[in-house]
Amino acid sequence: MRRVLIVGGGIAGPVLGMWLKRLGLEVSITEARPTAAVGEGAFLGVAPNGMNALEPLGVAAAVAAAGTACEAFQFINRRGESIGSIDRSGDASAFGRPLTMIRRGQLNAILAEEAARQGVEIRWGQRLVAVDESHPNHVIARFEDGSESSADILIGCDGLRSRVRSLLLPDAPAPSFTGLLDYGGFARGVQVPVPPGVNLMLFGRRAFFGIFVTPSGESWWFHNGAPESSDLEALRKRSDPARERERLLELHREDPPWVGDVIRATPTLLGPWPIYELQAMPRWHAGRVCLLGDAAHAMSPSAGQGASLAMEDALVLAQCLRDIDTPAKAFAAFEKARRPRVDAIFRAARRNGSGKAVSGAFSEWFRDRLLPLFLRLGASSQSKMYSYRLEWEKTT
Ligand SMILES: Cc1cc2nc3c(=O)[nH]c(=O)nc-3n(C[C@H](O)[C@H](O)[C@H](O)COP(=O)(O)OP(=O)(O)OC[C@H]3O[C@@H](n4cnc5c(N)ncnc54)[C@H](O)[C@@H]3O)c2cc1C
Repeated sequence: MRRVLIVGGGIAGPVLGMWLKRLGLEVSITEARPTAAVGEGAFLGVAPNGMNALEPLGVAAAVAAAGTACEAFQFINRRGESIGSIDRSGDASAFGRPLTMIRRGQLNAILAEEAARQGVEIRWGQRLVAVDESHPNHVIARFEDGSESSADILIGCDGLRSRVRSLLLPDAPAPSFTGLLDYGGFARGVQVPVPPGVNLMLFGRRAFFGIFVTPSGESWWFHNGAPESSDLEALRKRSDPARERERLLELHREDPPWVGDVIRATPTLLGPWPIYELQAMPRWHAGRVCLLGDAAHAMSPSAGQGASLAMEDALVLAQCLRDIDTPAKAFAAFEKARRPRVDAIFRAARRNGSGKAVSGAFSEWFRDRLLPLFLRLGASSQSKMYSYRLEWEKTT
């Protein structure tokens, strides 16, 4: 095996590319976007386990420098009363790196730049449309612009709506909608009752709201709530951002007033992103093609682990390709190694997401009293996810 084609230059693609370069392979990434998505998306958290999967590639320090460490999670109810917290201030010493909050565009840019610097070819603006697997010794990828390229193996890192997945496993389940629609944004100049470095989570009257203030005083926020219509495709196309902003303000009208201030102070409302998950994929590979990251196992962002799992996947797949003599066996070993962890985190993400659903006064009363107990359990399950360590040198 000499040539590898990776489809998708988001998070999983560049990280896998860097690992495969270590194996001395010729690696190309084909990415549909015209350039690195520097200004795209809102923000995300790279968990300590994700940071540790980047560490041996020499990339974790750049991500840490561009991001901000999260020191705690603080939970409040719609009256602004504190109902629980999780202290994460010991994560850097316990796990090596803390949970690092970073703008998505910045993370994408760092990974793409570093992959290119390490010799990975990235072809921007090249969308994969078809895969020809009829040849015994190679696979051919065809692109929207009419060009094609051949490789010994092809890895689909093309995310939730993976084209590779639909070509490879046409009977695979479609992603299913979790019921939550996500918006986000960046605001300045608003007084928020939380110090920098703390993730504040509000169980609002009619929707969930999360906010993180950076040391420079910028408020990074997201909203999770029910969509106003079941036509999610139409929602995604965003006909009227001003009206959407009014709708968010209305949904948070009965919540603490600073929520509305933050939404109003946001120059550009980002989203909406309907939150999907992809469960029960029958398998992640066929022939010379394998899926990785969201293409194989997209999950609700409520565990904050999708990107970190994609980073872990990349390391493990590269180990399998290094240690096992045929791609088919390496792909099978990769799937076997990753399934239990991915499935466990998938379930945790779903549990966390379901807690964001709006409830009546009676269940709110119970939630406010029981949350501290659940958070104690949640904190230890979070620490378990964070403590997961992969060692590149270890054979599979
Ligand atoms: C609102 C939201 C918040 C989130 N927050 C967090 C968080 O805090 N922490 C966390 O760990 N995770 C979070 N996630 C999940 C995380 O974003 C994903 O798990 C992660 O991006 C997966 O990486 P990936 O590389 O597999 O896919 P992606 O990042 O989606 O990258 C896929 C790439 O493939 C490209 N592509 C698609 N089709 C083609 C094609 N046909 N040809 C060529 N290129 C193609 C796309 O343009 C894209 O660049 C969040 C997700 C959402 C929606």
